[in-house]
This record gives sequence, structure tokens and C-alpha cells, in this order.
Amino acid sequence: MILNARDKITRGLLSLAKSPLLFYPYYRYHLPLPSEILIENTNNCNAQCVMCPRETLTRKRGFMEFALFEKIIREVSGARRTPVVHLHGFGEPLLDESLPERIRLAKTCGIKHTYLVTNASLLFPETSRKIIAAGLDTMKISFYGTDEESYRATMRRLDFKVALHNITEFVKIRKEMKKRTPKLILQYLPQEANAAKTEEFRSLWHAVLDKSAGDRLNSSTLHNYGGGRAYNRVGERMASVCFYPWTAMSVLWDGRAVTCCMDYNGVQGLGDLNVQSVTEIWNGPVLAAIRRNFGKLDYSGFPTCLCCDWVSRR
Ligand code: SF4
Repeated sequence: MILNARDKITRGLLSLAKSPLLFYPYYRYHLPLPSEILIENTNNCNAQCVMCPRETLTRKRGFMEFALFEKIIREVSGARRTPVVHLHGFGEPLLDESLPERIRLAKTCGIKHTYLVTNASLLFPETSRKIIAAGLDTMKISFYGTDEESYRATMRRLDFKVALHNITEFVKIRKEMKKRTPKLILQYLPQEANAAKTEEFRSLWHAVLDKSAGDRLNSSTLHNYGGGRAYNRVGERMASVCFYPWTAMSVLWDGRAVTCCMDYNGVQGLGDLNVQSVTEIWNGPVLAAIRRNFGKLDYSGFPTCLCCDWVSRR
């Protein structure tokens, strides 16, 4: 059975997801396609941020072949309700020179919402122009500091002044091009290393962001990254259903689909988009079994989930 992302039944079922006993009879129901698809263009990165478990990445590094990206986009853009397409994964998406071309293809094919997360260190004016012209809808920028010292303590290997300048110029260029997209989300992560200078962060961006274009600030919290970090205590027993298998799909640069973006080493595979379609994987036996097991809070056999602090525990 499939559900409609915007109807009341789906919303009701997802709201029941925290109560497995109520939810379980409905675990077979799912959307015709994921409502979000995360496509990793690369898992290379030019930074070594403290909260990112990059040093434990065992997967081969690389960039997604454009032909594979196009195959995925052409399939999902044929849906009546196209998924939100994330153009990033466990890496810095601006390292990929074909990123503007990927965005353009997605928009030309009819994807309504494209989104990416970047550290902005490579958001130079020429790249900014290409990304804006290609039609990116939303860009989240991780900027975890309010001065050179706090920034360097978190976003190791990056330069505070370069990133700040890039973002400031980006806003000017977008205005010059008479565009309102991509909307910017400037994300801060209050933590020990940056001494939680939330007010300073607000004032740093106050004069730069353009509220009339929909730019905004966002404050995030530290998570365990599927066991790559141990910021939050993880209890013995799962207490809620993770609804990723009902709503989203993550694709690694080599075409393997995995349960979610927390699985940065690709150990919880769903299938391979080099030889399967999104629909085949989404409606196939692997995800059906995962939905059945997650629906009754059985995460055994899923090492990333067993360390995950995104599902509530007791
Ligand atoms: S439980 Fe955590 S690791 Fe597992 S699929 Fe859900 S969000 Fe991902």
C-alpha cells in the first residue's frame, strides 16, 4: 500500500510513529516514492570539523558519475509529487565542479525543491553565480564560530575570514542577479569549543542576510552521528520508531542506497541504483523487512541504528 505525503492519513500515521503499538498495524503503508532523496555527489571534504567523525570513514572516496545522477533525477522527477532533492552527503558538495550542472538538470527535469549543505569555504563569486543561475532553492551553511578563534576550534582546516567574505559576497551577487534563491540558512552549533556565543552569531549575520529573500539563522544541536561520536547518552532500549524508511532515501556517491545519512560508512544497504531503480528499492523486500522490524522497534542487525541518538531510548 502507498500513501500520499500530504494527506491526513499519512500525517496521522507519522505522528503515531513514536507509539509503536499504535503504529505497527500500518507499517506496510508507505509513500509512492521517498519525499526526500539525499544524493551524495562526493564524500570528499576539505575540512575536519570536530563533530564530524571523518577520521572513521572507511568507505572509498569519490564523486558520483553524472550519468548515474541523471538516471536517478530523471526517474524521481517523473513522479506526480517530486521529492525534495538534497545534493550533498558525507562531504563538501562544492568540491564537485559539476554541481551547478547537477542543480540545473534537477530543476530542468521539474524537481521543485533542491537543497544542499556547505561550509562555504569554496563559495567563490564565480561558483556563487553558477549556483544561483542553475536555480538552487535552499542552501544551508554550517558556520560554527563567531570569530577566528572559535571558528578554527570547530571547523578545523577552514578560514573564518574566507568563509565570511564568501557568504557576504554571495548575498550581494544574488541581489545583483535579481534573484531570491537560493535562500540561505546560516547554521550555528552552540557547543563547548565555541562557548555558545549565540548572541554574537546573531549580530555577526544581522547586516549580511537578506530577510526579504527568506534568509534565516538556525541553531543546531550535537548528535552522535550514528555512533561516530558520543555526545549524547544512548539508552538500552529503543522507545520510538524511526520513520526514515517511510519517508526518505540516502544514496552514496557510488550508487548504493542506505537507510539514512547517519550511515556514512554504508553498512546498512538497501540496494544499488547502478542496477536498480529508486522505485524498485523503495518497494522492494529489503525496505519492506526494515519497515516491519523498525515498526516493532527491532533494530537488531543495524549497527548504525543501535548507536543512533535520533530515536528515543529508555
Ligand atoms: S535509527 Fe538513526 S541511524 Fe537508523 S535509520 Fe533512523 S536515523 Fe538512521
